Amino acid sequence: MVRAFQFANQVAVTGVVDAVTATLLFSGTARGIDAARLEGVPGIAIGEFETWDEGQRTGNTDVVLLDGVRLTAWLAPHWVRMRDAAQADGVQLRFNSARSGFRTSQDQAELYRRYGSPRAVPPGWSNHQDGHAIDLVMTPEVKRWMSARAGEFGFVRPTYEDWHWEYRA
Ligand SMILES: [Zn+2]
Repeated sequence: MVRAFQFANQVAVTGVVDAVTATLLFSGTARGIDAARLEGVPGIAIGEFETWDEGQRTGNTDVVLLDGVRLTAWLAPHWVRMRDAAQADGVQLRFNSARSGFRTSQDQAELYRRYGSPRAVPPGWSNHQDGHAIDLVMTPEVKRWMSARAGEFGFVRPTYEDWHWEYRA
């Protein structure tokens, strides 16, 4: 829960109630974790975040922490269905970094500062900010499995990036 709270408030995720976390906890302005609202959704609820598409703010979405990444609450069950189907076929689907699911504008700004264009796009323009996109570790087995079966679960690969998949059902 401490990790979820730190994620929700975009401070270092240590799992330890350090000075920064303690100050936030008692600030009265920290982002709360509304776990009850997301009952039944896989993962740990970490709060509501802004969604962006094509440089425009499009609204807010509930986000959960699951398998080491943040995912929009609506996407999480689709991910779980696909992950479990792959597992049943003996293939392990894994995210390729902690930012491989839903990204906040702050996440995207950091990536853009680090990698620049064309590897990263400016905040507001990533498909990871509207909550449809995931990035996977692409082993040959995962490549084969995703090519054959991802479509059944609503996931497509829209660009040349073979690790980047989007839910488009
Ligand atoms: Zn991606």
